Amino acid sequence: MANRIAEKLRTEMKTGEVEVTVFDRSEKHVYQPGQLLVALGMEDPSAIVKEERELLNPRVKFVYGSKGEVVRIDVSNHSIFTADGASHQYDYLVIATGSHNDWNLVPGLRETEFTAWDYEASIKMREALVSTSVEGQR
Ligand SMILES: Cc1cc2nc3c(=O)[nH]c(=O)nc-3n(C[C@H](O)[C@H](O)[C@H](O)COP(=O)(O)OP(=O)(O)OC[C@H]3O[C@@H](n4cnc5c(N)ncnc54)[C@H](O)[C@@H]3O)c2cc1C
Repeated sequence: MANRIAEKLRTEMKTGEVEVTVFDRSEKHVYQPGQLLVALGMEDPSAIVKEERELLNPRVKFVYGSKGEVVRIDVSNHSIFTADGASHQYDYLVIATGSHNDWNLVPGLRETEFTAWDYEASIKMREALVSTSVEGQR
């Protein structure tokens, strides 16, 4: 979204009339569909993780870590608050926080389930499949 806006408003961004900023608590971007390939041993885990800065248009500002973690949004005052205690004004806000799987809601699921639906779990599934096939060969 940030890249598309930056492309469409490149003239306004060049003149400084418009500023686009991405706030993210993480500086890494995980290409989630790749977790299926990781789990099945068809892709290296590191291949699906990229520096988010490198994926963004150079004109887009990127703020991450505690400076990028949004803890509160004040819609009526057009401002966001970040974990470092700062506040930032905006004209337009796009929220794309993804979805978060709370595995602990189902007791025992985390310990017994194999899934490609989060990054660490896909690596665990990959390791389990490798050890299962090694066991099978014995
Ligand atoms: C195994 C798998 C296969 C998939 N296959 C497909 C497919 O084939 N086709 C398809 O279209 N989609 C697929 N998806 C879904 C797709 O990956 C997601 O829909 C997409 O990644 C969602 O993008 P997003 O930017 O909304 O969220 P995410 O990619 O999850 O990014 C959310 C970002 O928000 C940040 N964030 C969260 N909370 C805060 C906060 N409070 N402050 C600051 N930053 C925050 C996170 O750090 C993260 O960087 C698949 C997903 C999985 C897991």
